[in-house]
Order: sequence, then C-alpha cells, then structure tokens
Amino acid sequence: MKVTLKNIGKKYESREEFTLRNINLEIDDKDFCVILGPSGCGKTTLLRMIAGLNSITEGDLIFDDKRVNKLASKDRDIAMVFQSYALYPHMTVYDNMAFSLSMRKERKNIINERVTEAAKLLQIEQYLQSKPSDISGGQRQRVALGRAIVRKPKVFLMDEPLSNLDAKLREHMRIELVRIHKQMETTTIYVTHDQVEAMTMATKIILMNDGKIQQVGKPTEFYERPQNMFVARFIGSPTINMIRGKVKDGKFISEDGIIKVTPNEIDKKALKNYDGKDVFLGIRSERFLSGKTEESFEGIIDVIEVLGKEKTLFVKLKSGKDLNITVPGHYKYEMGESHNFGLDVDALHFFDAETQERIN
Ligand code: ATP
Repeated sequence: MKVTLKNIGKKYESREEFTLRNINLEIDDKDFCVILGPSGCGKTTLLRMIAGLNSITEGDLIFDDKRVNKLASKDRDIAMVFQSYALYPHMTVYDNMAFSLSMRKERKNIINERVTEAAKLLQIEQYLQSKPSDISGGQRQRVALGRAIVRKPKVFLMDEPLSNLDAKLREHMRIELVRIHKQMETTTIYVTHDQVEAMTMATKIILMNDGKIQQVGKPTEFYERPQNMFVARFIGSPTINMIRGKVKDGKFISEDGIIKVTPNEIDKKALKNYDGKDVFLGIRSERFLSGKTEESFEGIIDVIEVLGKEKTLFVKLKSGKDLNITVPGHYKYEMGESHNFGLDVDALHFFDAETQERIN
C-alpha cells in the first residue's frame, strides 16, 4: 500500500507551538522507509499519526487513494511493533502470536497456518510452546514481530523495535528484517535514531530535525550528497570534518589559512557566485590523501583510535583545528608524529555558511 502525507501538521493541546508542520511525503508500496532523526524531532509523533493513535491537526493522510485522517486505528489495516514488546507472560509463544487472530474469530486452521508460517520465517518454530520468560530477549522481539506478521497487514509500523537488544543481536535482526521484508514485500515504516539501522535497511530514508524534514532519499545519497550541514553531520561515523573558510579566485582557503584546495571543475562552477564569501568545506574521514604535494598541509597525530580493519587518526593543525582521518588498519602511524595530508578533490562538500545548505 502507498502512504501519502500532504501538509501534515501536529499541535499537541498542551503545547504552544506545532510539533510537526508541512510534512509532505510519498511512501511507495513495498518501500522500507526509515524515519531517522535525533531524540525529540517528532518521529514517534509522525508514526503514531499514521497509526491512528495520535490525531492529525492539519493536512491529509492518504492510504492508496483514500483519505484516512478520521479512520479508527483498528480499521487501517496496519500492524505496529514497538520497542517494548509486551507479550502476555502467561501465554505460550504460539498463543501470543495467535491472539489478534483469535480475537477476530479467525478459523482455527487459518490461525495455525499463519502462526506456523510466521514462526518459520522468524526461525522460532521450536519455541512455539515456550512461555516468553523462557526465551531470550532477541527471541521475544521476534515473537513481537510474529504477532504483527500473522495479521498480514498492508503496512508495518515499527518504533525502535531493536533498541532493547545488544549490539550483536541488533546486527543480526537488521539482516533478518531485510530478509523478511524481501519475502513479504509489505510497506514498512520504521522509526529510529540509529543511522546504521537506517543506512543498512532502508530503501528510503527520511531524516528529520526539529519537526521538519531535512532530506528524503536513498541511503547512499545521504552519505554522498547531504543536502545541508545537519544531514552531513548526522550521517557517517566518524562525523564529517567541517572546515570554515572562504572562496578566493576559485580556490578554497580555510579561515586559519592552513588548508588550501583547488576544487575540481564541477565544484568550481557551483562555487562561481561564492568568490569572497564564507563557506564550509565538508570532507569525510576516509577521503584524505597522505604525502607531500603542492596543496598538502601538516598536522600532528594527537590520538589514534584502532578499529581493526581501519584506524582513525585525530590530527591537530597548528591553529588548533582538529580533523579525523581514517586510514587502513595496517598503515603505521605513531602518536605525536607530524605528517602531510591532502584532500581528495572529488570528495568535497561545500555548504553556504549562512544558510548551511549544500552548494555543489
Ligand atoms: P524519541 O526518539 O526521543 O522518541 P521522537 O523523535 O520520537 O523522540 P516525539 O516523541 O515525536 O519525538 O516528540 C516530539 C516532540 O513532541 C517532543 O518535544 C515531545 O516532548 C512532544 N510530545 C510528544 N508527545 C507529546 C504529548 N502527548 N503531549 C505534548 N507533547 C508531546
């Protein structure tokens, strides 16, 4: 099912200001759409409006071609999975999964078929007769997913369903969710503040901040072409390096005068109205070059963070400016050493210093 939001806004009665405003979105049938953003940006509010658990103050919520603003939650053909999975402790896994179908007075053989099918998909068949207290947290989270799957909804709505799991299990469940989505092809809207979940699972990411949409697109677009400085900083770890400076005769010069770089031809064109103006240059940690060249600069390695396959050098320039530079794990560097670095000119992100919007 396709989910469309037109100028959606939300104002809680107890609040002076709108929590969300002018939200326009198209979530296509079969999309795995991740709503991403920092705590308090309005992700849950938005999801709860789609679910019918929060009223909509303004705008239109449309499922396929039908406006559903006033449709009761139970009639929306959706299933929700939350962070707290609240299973019934006295019921078996089977009965927990069968519960909503039993309430709908579904036939026994249909219930059995659906529960068995979902258990197989989630690889929890051997626990169907166990009680929730006798299985692990990860298995309980799967039961919660199973409960949603058996209903065969038109849309899955998930609110941080993996945040209670440990790191290893989260990684495993991310892959499982992608696999399940591929098999079921049900439109999924998934809320998280974890950029890794968004980058690994989404077919479409919606990044929000402060009640507003910052960027909508495919995961790679967020990394490679962040539309503003907030997006650039939110996506990617270590955080993108931001260097303030000016454009002079087509060249970028940092405010401390240490970093000078001549952008490639495409970027030069984009920057042609910025001569003499303040901009920010963004460059990701892995896009530095090492060695002395005409435009290289010197920095002292302050700290080295070893991650195995790579290491991150925290480099201090003479001005005191810090940069993070990622290099392959087997490269030899020592703390306190001075080195020359340069920038890969095909990896420069330029932002207007005033509006913080992308230029190139
Ligand atoms: P988190 O990741 O912390 O859950 P979120 O992005 O999901 O955050 P929301 O829970 O949607 O954010 O909250 C957005 C804003 O709306 C916050 O400022 C919050 O305090 C406010 N808010 C949420 N629920 C209510 C409510 N029932 N009444 C009044 N304000 C609310």
